[in-house]
Amino acid sequence: MVVHSPAEVAARAAGSADLVALDAGVVDCFACPRLVAWREEVAATRRAAFRDQVYWGRPVPGFGVPDARIAILGLAPAAHGGNRTGRIFTGDRSGDVLFAALHRAGLANQPTSVSADDGLALHDLRIFASVRCAPPDNKPTPVERDTCAPWLWRELELIKPTVRVVVALGAFAWAAWWPAMSRVYGGAPPSPRPAFGHGAHWTSPDGGYPHLLGCYHVSQQNTFTGRLTPAMLDDIFARAKELARGA
Ligand code: SF4
Repeated sequence: MVVHSPAEVAARAAGSADLVALDAGVVDCFACPRLVAWREEVAATRRAAFRDQVYWGRPVPGFGVPDARIAILGLAPAAHGGNRTGRIFTGDRSGDVLFAALHRAGLANQPTSVSADDGLALHDLRIFASVRCAPPDNKPTPVERDTCAPWLWRELELIKPTVRVVVALGAFAWAAWWPAMSRVYGGAPPSPRPAFGHGAHWTSPDGGYPHLLGCYHVSQQNTFTGRLTPAMLDDIFARAKELARGA
């Protein structure tokens, strides 16, 4: 059943009994007219290098194991990455950097992520985005962010029994975390909200919430300029693993 409105997103997400059902709902979502038009236009026009490929052109669901202790929360799929291949952080430079680091950390079975059928598997990790469709200029509107939020909330709810650490890739994901946390775990977010930064770490005094770790986004603006280096990513994922173990 196709999803056409914010109310239908909320109902379909809340009614998803498991991640398989949730992912099936996500890929059938058409609730944001601007993003639906954009994802389809990109898929129709294509980048020259991918002219011979059929783009996915749909929302991109989460990826990884259902009993993950570590989650990575991103912004949204890339127009010629996830929107092309159908898998988050797959088929673009951001994914090259991210999965090389995850492989070094022992969280992925291979260092590359090129297509949905390339054999990539994650260990103890699930990756998902705050907004599930590629937005123009990588900038979803506040309305689009809020419309898509129930998919994130339900995904978080379904992995809540095991997840101990959330790595927020960039300030957008960091900001999206607080309402999701309140919704799924209850309670108000800390006030004032902790500022995003690379290596920023928030944990609740009573330990009732996952640890939140900030990490610069693996965008080309950050990785090409050296603002985010492989060593910095290694430190973040080493810390995430420590926190997941309760260290
Ligand atoms: S951004 Fe989210 S809510 Fe909007 S159409 Fe895509 S999947 Fe649906």
